[in-house]
Amino acid sequence: MNESSLRPLIGLSLEQLRDVAAEVGLKPFAAKQICAWLYQRRVTDIDEMTDISKAARQRLKEKYTVGRERPLAEAVSSDGTVKYLFRGAGDRQVEAVFIPDRDRATLCVSSQAGCKMKCSFCMTGRQGYHGNLTTAQIINQVLEAGGADVLTNIVFMGMGEPTDNLDAVLAAIEILTAPWGLAWSPKRITVSTIGNIPGLKTLLDTTKVHIAISVHSPYPAERAGIMPVERAWAVRDVMELLRQYDFAHQRRLSVEYIMWRGFNDDMAHADALARLIKGTSSRVNLIRFHAIPGAEMAPSAKATMEAFRDRLNDAGVTATIRASRGEDIDAACGMLAGKQSENTI
Ligand code: SF4
Repeated sequence: MNESSLRPLIGLSLEQLRDVAAEVGLKPFAAKQICAWLYQRRVTDIDEMTDISKAARQRLKEKYTVGRERPLAEAVSSDGTVKYLFRGAGDRQVEAVFIPDRDRATLCVSSQAGCKMKCSFCMTGRQGYHGNLTTAQIINQVLEAGGADVLTNIVFMGMGEPTDNLDAVLAAIEILTAPWGLAWSPKRITVSTIGNIPGLKTLLDTTKVHIAISVHSPYPAERAGIMPVERAWAVRDVMELLRQYDFAHQRRLSVEYIMWRGFNDDMAHADALARLIKGTSSRVNLIRFHAIPGAEMAPSAKATMEAFRDRLNDAGVTATIRASRGEDIDAACGMLAGKQSENTI
């Protein structure tokens, strides 16, 4: 059997593994054993599943593989951030970024190779869309980049718009949080979205993960100029939806706001942003813009960002300036692009 025609086991749910067990003549309870090998002991080879008979393992190996894939390359930043490159979709690779920070270790994962959303400030948006990642490919990033034992948090903020590959993202969240999976609390997971309303609603109703919404401008016409999604799903309507959910207790809502000099960083913008998000119990992350090739806009000055933050705080909004990580390896927000058909970073 050709290795590439084998189907990956990682990415499958307990229920799907019951079907696999039946297919290879195993009893249904073997599905739980396979889950434990995949997601708790995290083996990389079916032959390591030693409580499954050798004959059954052989039958399993004829159709399946564990499906773990090592990163194609990695780059380490001077601040300890590590960027990993994985096989993606089509001929495109995707990136995952490991961000250690005192007692936290966060992995920023990708959900698509490229992206359809065309945000003007984002390198991933510029490369266009090349395909969805499978659930196996999303889980593989968690198991391979940094290591599931080391990680404290996962953020879906890498390449792609998670609500545009929702089935795979929801299946990955199930594996990350189910008792038969990695058994993480959903409080360790954040999904970042630009606000596709039906997808966001499904995410809100079917999971308990934290949500981050990319706003970047409180004014519709201005936002539409940098984020075409505004024409399909207005951020005002996104906020209206979010007001119907509780973000004051277990679940957190963050508003992401990249700051550009002379574009969205004056006090009128701060006041309009405070009005826009009123009643959502959200906190605002102010993000310094990382210039990308050909970008016309420049990052806001530090003092401007601090004044903007203070204005929001004075309006009763919790706002912080997010520390920038991994800039020297192009791993910061908006910089993930991937190199085309090269196994280098
Ligand atoms: S910012 Fe997010 S949604 Fe927009 S183009 Fe980049 S990856 Fe896609």
